[in-house]
Amino acid sequence: MAQILDGAPVRDAIYSECRPRIAALRRPPGLAVVLVGHNPASQIYVRKKVQASHELGIHSETLAPPDSISTEDLLAVVAELNRRPEIDGILVQMPLPPQVDSKRILLAVSPEKDVDGFHPCNVGNLVTGRSGPKSCTPAGIVRLLHHYQIPIAGRHAVVVGRSDIVGKPMAMLLLHENATVTICHSKTQDLAGICRQGDILVAAMGRAAALTADFIKPGATVIDVGTNRIADRAEAARIFRNSKEKLEAFDRRGNLLVGDVNPLDVAEVASAYTPVPGGVGLLTVAMLMMNTVDSAERRLGGRHAA
Ligand code: NAP
Repeated sequence: MAQILDGAPVRDAIYSECRPRIAALRRPPGLAVVLVGHNPASQIYVRKKVQASHELGIHSETLAPPDSISTEDLLAVVAELNRRPEIDGILVQMPLPPQVDSKRILLAVSPEKDVDGFHPCNVGNLVTGRSGPKSCTPAGIVRLLHHYQIPIAGRHAVVVGRSDIVGKPMAMLLLHENATVTICHSKTQDLAGICRQGDILVAAMGRAAALTADFIKPGATVIDVGTNRIADRAEAARIFRNSKEKLEAFDRRGNLLVGDVNPLDVAEVASAYTPVPGGVGLLTVAMLMMNTVDSAERRLGGRHAA
């Protein structure tokens, strides 16, 4: 039986680390979340981040400018947050509406308040192994691998996906952990053959259950970052091989969440894997909280002060 790498105990361990650090600060850490418009998925993500902040005693503010906001007006919102001393972390929820220049917005967030780790300064810090906020999802995955004592050094890690927020920082963090890293993308030839070489396989492509048994090395550790909502019953039936329980769940909700890895195949072939939901997703929020606490400590002269 493959081991299920449950994200919940890892999240709890991160929160247990955060609580005394928050209590030791002279004021609560401050996190500002900018949520433009009414994208339903973004609203859910932001709600989870605000909830986690409340649980931990992090002061959080959500700013909700309208869908029609211009780049200049959003830059002004960010500039004001950069200026406010009680705000330690700024998160601009992506995606932004098409008229907004997302790159300019991300560049405008002060690197010291960039709790998503997306600013080029922080990407540079990551590449050169310096301290600073790291992209939350990949940082959470490294925490998870450590938590479950999965060896990384010397092993071949295959990362499928090369986005700036997941694939690239994931590959870099695994490299810093001394894995031999291969990055795959949509132009990779013989994707299955390369994935099958991975002692650690990280799937971050956004394609529902695309990695099937023949992409997984027997005994591998599989980390599934994908979050894909399946609204087609026939597709759900195919992925879950007509599982009565899953199809009943589909009928109740009208959709099912699946990762990028086939959930039944991975349980049969891998030695350990993260479930979807309940795996990586929990850690993304937890690492955002950790990055906010780190930032507050740096800014208030706590234990991380340089
Ligand atoms: P993204 O920006 O769309 O990037 C997807 C990457 O996958 C791209 O590099 C793309 O290659 C590659 N790809 C797409 N189809 C492929 C194929 N058939 N074969 C090989 N490579 C393929 O996505 P993302 O933001 O990195 O997110 C990836 C997934 O993770 C999504 O499902 C997202 O919802 C999920 N996610 C989850 C969390 C979480 O907390 N659980 C956090 C972030 C993201 P090209 O570069 O060649 O186009």
